[in-house]
Amino acid sequence: MEKLVVEIKNNNYKKVIKKTRKILNICDNENKKLEIISNGKLITKEDNIELYNIMHAINIKDKSKRYSFIYDTVCDYIDKKYLECNYCDFKDDVCVFFRNHPKIMHKDGCCYSDARGGLCENLKNHRCQIKSISCKLYSCEYLRNKKVYFKIKDIPLLKYFFNLKQKYILKYSFFKPKSYVMYKLMENW
Ligand code: SF4
Ligand code: SF4
Repeated sequence: MEKLVVEIKNNNYKKVIKKTRKILNICDNENKKLEIISNGKLITKEDNIELYNIMHAINIKDKSKRYSFIYDTVCDYIDKKYLECNYCDFKDDVCVFFRNHPKIMHKDGCCYSDARGGLCENLKNHRCQIKSISCKLYSCEYLRNKKVYFKIKDIPLLKYFFNLKQKYILKYSFFKPKSYVMYKLMENW
């Protein structure tokens, strides 16, 4: 397979990330493998994880496998941030938002909702049994006020690899498992 070699100059990874869509189109249309080089060597996760993941995703030529990689990578990234930063700060299964609202206080955070008829069917023993990217991208009012949100436009793997309709699917397929979202993404590329 022919290669497209992109060189990082002056450690300017951001500049190359901004060109992702162009690079992706060239590699897909001309069936090329992407190599991103910095200081004469292929970049590693340690150099820049975002760009490394972009390169990896572009080099997965099967669309379904590419989307699956992106889905898992973005879910893992958000999970890791929530775990590290303890944004929801659960105590005895009650999150910080509902601890601050005694009148509507309940366990299990936004996985429980009176409007939706109670506890989400995907929650068992206080743990979600599916991997819903839309739920992971969601931030409640409390978190948004603290500037904790994950926007599609700020995540290159979502911003550059999906069209508008697919982004809508990623954002609004609440409570749906990966298999459902993958099916919808494949239907709409
Ligand atoms: S997103 Fe908000 S409401 Fe949902 S669990 Fe976290 S703190 Fe609670
Ligand atoms: S699907 Fe969403 S609302 Fe339901 S348990 Fe999982 S994270 Fe909570």
